[in-house]
Amino acid sequence: MAHKAGFVNIIGNPNVGKSTLMNSLVGEKMSIITSKAQTTRHRIMGIVNGEDFQMVYSDTPGILKPNYMLQESMMKFANSALVDADIILYVTDIFETYEQNQAYIEKVVKKDVPVLLLINKIDLSSQTEIEELSQMWQKYLPKAEIVLISALKKFNIDYVFDQILKILPESPPYFPKDVLTDKTERFFVSEIIREKILENYKKEIPYSVEMVVEEFKEEKEIIRIRTIIYVERESQKGILIGHQGQALKKVGTHARLDMEKFFDKKIFLELYVKVSKDWRSKPKILRNFGYQ
Ligand code: GDP
Ligand code: MG
Repeated sequence: MAHKAGFVNIIGNPNVGKSTLMNSLVGEKMSIITSKAQTTRHRIMGIVNGEDFQMVYSDTPGILKPNYMLQESMMKFANSALVDADIILYVTDIFETYEQNQAYIEKVVKKDVPVLLLINKIDLSSQTEIEELSQMWQKYLPKAEIVLISALKKFNIDYVFDQILKILPESPPYFPKDVLTDKTERFFVSEIIREKILENYKKEIPYSVEMVVEEFKEEKEIIRIRTIIYVERESQKGILIGHQGQALKKVGTHARLDMEKFFDKKIFLELYVKVSKDWRSKPKILRNFGYQ
């Protein structure tokens, strides 16, 4: 049989379960999942290799209205997902209305790319509700295949995987077969810390931080990691560190435990907090942090 390969792009609004879906499709904890919207800021590629196929997944930031520069640059990632896709996985959930997706769906309809429309979180819904929802979506996307899934409970994920394999175009592989992701270890370090910050602080702090991994040194028994957490203001630095450093210590401990699982090795983690004024609205600083 001829070799198949292609780019499978996962898109949809924040919080519908894109990262959870990608994790269950790729089978590794590659992108960070939390209950707060907008945690996935970068495109992440997860690659699934078989003997005669290669699926290159990307999980894109949610669909956002650009109202400050960071979001604008995130939108570019989301739009580029439409350009290079061989297959689009459009994710919505049982709570979303068509209106919340209208603008994006209209773009998707115009593309000549196969679309699987995945209605996620059906574990939280009833049979009748689900049927009504699929009928509604089929009306708006007549060419798409509608699949009811639960990314969290792994319901119908194998079916989605098989459908993707079926429609994947014939092509030689795009990446060497032993590559799992295009992201570096440093990227995963930052994302794990970001996840812990999201879990431990109220709204303002998580959206004001950016991480720079200054050192990632793998030794025989241990990986030594030094990360700077940049915030926008002195006051945020104080909150992040907390009374006698307790808050930051908690983030560090939780992050270290996750990293030890992820890298399967002992981790020595140092976290420092620095102020970088208004990093969000300065193009040059954004570029340094990896946003184009
Ligand atoms: P993203 O913003 O689209 O990447 O969404 P995430 O994957 O981060 O998921 C957002 C939230 O929805 C998390 O709390 C997930 O645990 C939850 N979630 C994702 N999929 C399901 C599902 O199938 N069922 C339920 N009940 N929750 C889910
Ligand atoms: Mg996500």
